[in-house]
Formats: sequence, structure tokens, C-alpha cells
Amino acid sequence: MKLDTQSFTYGLESIYKNSRMEVQEDSYDTLEIQKHIRQRWINEKVDLLARNKWTTQQKLSYALPKLSSVVDYAFENIPFYHEFYKSHGYKLGEIRSVDDFKCLPLLNKGILRSVKTEDFIPRGISKDSPEFFWSSTSGSSGVALPILRDIGSVSNNVLSYYRMFQQLAGDEFSPDRWIYNIHHIRSWTSSMCGDYPTFTLNDIVEPEEFVRHLEQIRPVILNLLPSYLPVLEPYATRISALKMKAIITNSEASSRHEREYYSAIFNTYVLDEYSSEEVGIIALECPHRHYHPDPDQVYVELVDIESSSGDANLASVYCTDYLCRTMPFIRYDHGDIVSTGGHDAYQCKCGKYGRTIERVEGRKDDCLKTLGGHYVPTAIVTNTLDSHFNATPHVESFRLVQKRNISDLDFLYVGSDVNLVEALVASFASELKRILKMDVNLKTIRVDALPTTASYKRKKIICEA
Ligand SMILES: [Zn+2]
Repeated sequence: MKLDTQSFTYGLESIYKNSRMEVQEDSYDTLEIQKHIRQRWINEKVDLLARNKWTTQQKLSYALPKLSSVVDYAFENIPFYHEFYKSHGYKLGEIRSVDDFKCLPLLNKGILRSVKTEDFIPRGISKDSPEFFWSSTSGSSGVALPILRDIGSVSNNVLSYYRMFQQLAGDEFSPDRWIYNIHHIRSWTSSMCGDYPTFTLNDIVEPEEFVRHLEQIRPVILNLLPSYLPVLEPYATRISALKMKAIITNSEASSRHEREYYSAIFNTYVLDEYSSEEVGIIALECPHRHYHPDPDQVYVELVDIESSSGDANLASVYCTDYLCRTMPFIRYDHGDIVSTGGHDAYQCKCGKYGRTIERVEGRKDDCLKTLGGHYVPTAIVTNTLDSHFNATPHVESFRLVQKRNISDLDFLYVGSDVNLVEALVASFASELKRILKMDVNLKTIRVDALPTTASYKRKKIICEA
């Protein structure tokens, strides 16, 4: 029988109440798939860990045939890619070098929005077949993108998470130790047939009870949104007594400064995972504070960009999920900008080779800023925006823009006349004041269409400050 990891609530009311929501990964979290993943983990663990030490040349030798194969596969089997690449003159078998690959056009959400889902999956497969699993992107982008995976793609992604935990926890990552996850998604299985169990909490509502729960579960790794770190600060002594091997932040912007601060007070590494629902883990921050792209699941291109302010080392990130055969994202631009370090022959003190990501810059413009210079996580503001405007027939689409003077914000929307939305905007404004802990001057602007953003992401929140 499958271990019901969510039943380990130890009679704690708020933990029980906030762990009942299904996560989208539950669709593949069956005992059968857990068995499959457990077997793969046993067979492939040594290889998976060894790949972390690959040189740039080794990574390239691994990547090239796979890039060539996924491009040809997509060109032959997926209607969208066939038309997309054909219109750029692509012919089967033309990827013979990485330079050839880099001549392919980029994909982004703007392009995908105009593509019908059935044109983005291989011909002849049934969307509703039980061997396929649907998930979807969420968060700040405004449009949910459905994603189709098969068992191969699911288990590759899950294994890359277990590898991350193993890498961070070392010998202490034993089958009886728990992983604790605070999120509405989990990205891996709830256990491997009872081994390496994960408890998923959707939200911390009672911090005291949450810490008591941690003390019962005694996880080796804790995954959370960085916005929870300050909530846990009053419990630093008790949390550091748990001797967790790492706290992994994800999904929202956090600064290195913050992570170092919380590493010190929680007495464990607080490290950032840079990932996306589309492709999985893109890069993980190491204890020496460099993000290293995963060497084998996703091909990560860091392409230098000129910045108007003259900042050095800024790059766009293009990802290729080259093992996926249901819905491969090829040269996919999430719209993120990062700053980079190192070079192909560089070896970090952690042992990993190649160029590094020093900071994920792009997602910061999804965050609002406060007078105290703090970032307010997108998730909180997005939820508030959604709860006000998603259900009204008077607002078709919207965007919140924080201006250079940070108490000035514009609410842009497409929809009915201003007098029909005023009351909602006023209610949102008072909620926003509470979140930002400052006075705000919110201007309502009705537009015919929301302006396109440079990254093509349809953003709900933009910070110009
Ligand atoms: Zn490193």
C-alpha cells in the first residue's frame, strides 16, 4: 500500500487543515510509479551523482546527440515544431554542432499562447490516455500553460529532485528521513514506496504549530518559499536544533544576502533552487553561492546580453528539455535575466565545472518593493489581485505597475467603464496598503490592450522602481 505521508499530522490542527489540498503531482503519485522511480533511483543514483562533476567537454558530448535527436523528433512528430522550424528553413538531421542548434528560433510563452495544445503534442497520441499526466504552469505569468508528461519525463524530473536532496544531505539522506515541503506543488513523489517520505504543507498559518510539526517529523531537508523565512525567524533556536542539512528556497526572488542571513540563524545552508514548471530544475545554488545548471536533464544556454546601464555579465537563459518526448520545450526563453560568472573551464570549490549563474535577476521585476527596501513576494500580491479581479465580468485582463516613486502604482485593465470597477480597485488598494505596510497612491487606467512586455511574459505585476 502507498504510504499516506499526509496523515503524519500528529494531531496538530493547523497542520491537518493546511495539508488537505491536492497537489498537481498527485496525478502520477501512484504506488506503481513510485516503484518505477525507486528502481531507477537504485540503478542510476551513482551515475546521476557522478554527472555533477562533469567537465564542460563531457557535458557537451552528452548533450549534442540528445539535442539533435529531440529537435528531429519534434520536427517529425509535433505539428507546431514542424511548421515553426520549416518556416526557418530547417531540414531533418541538420543539428551537427551546438552552433547549428543555436541557429534554431527561440520559443517563448508569447509564441505558445497562439499555439493550440494539440499542435504542441506529438501526432497520434491520445491526450486523455492514463499513461500521460497533465500539469500546468502557475504564478505570475497570467496565463496557465498546460504541460503533458509521460512516465519517462516524470521520472527524470523526480529523480533530479532526489539527486538534489542527496547531494545536499549526503550520508544523512537515508530512506527513513523525511523531506518537508511547503508549497502548493511538490514536483516529486510523496515517497518511493515509503522510503524518503515527503510531507507537503500548503501554507504556514500557525508558526508555533508548524515548528512543533517539524520537531516531530525531523526532516533532513526543508523546501519553502523565501517569504516564509522571516515568519520562522522567532523560532531560530528550535529550528537550528533540528540540524537539517539544507533549507531550499524556490519560486520567488530572494537575495543572497537574505539567504546568508537565514543560513546563519537557522544554522544550516539556505540555498536557492532555480526551476520552472516547464522544464524542472534549471540550476541549484551551491554552498559557495554559485548556481550551477543541471548537467543532464536540461540544456541551459546562457546568452550574454548588452544592458543599457552597462552592467557586465547579464545573460538570457534558454532551456531545452532534451529528454522529454511528450512536450519538449526547445530553446525556451522563460523571460528571465541572470548575471553570470565563471567560464567553461572554471571549477567551483564544490567541484562543479563551467559557467555559473550568480543571481537570478529577472524575477525581481515581478516583486513589489516597500519603503524599507524589502521585496514583497509576487505570490501574495498575485493572490490578492486574483481574488479581487478574476471573478468580475468587468475586468478582462489586468496589470499592476509599481512606478519609480514606489508609493505610486498603476492598475491597468482591459474591460468595462472605470465607474464599474472603482469599488473593487478601492478595496484592492486598502488590501495592498496592508501588504506593503505603507500608503499607496493607486491610479486606475483603462486600456484597449495591455502593453507587451520585453520578455513576452504576460505579467500581472511589474515593478519599475
Ligand atoms: Zn559550486
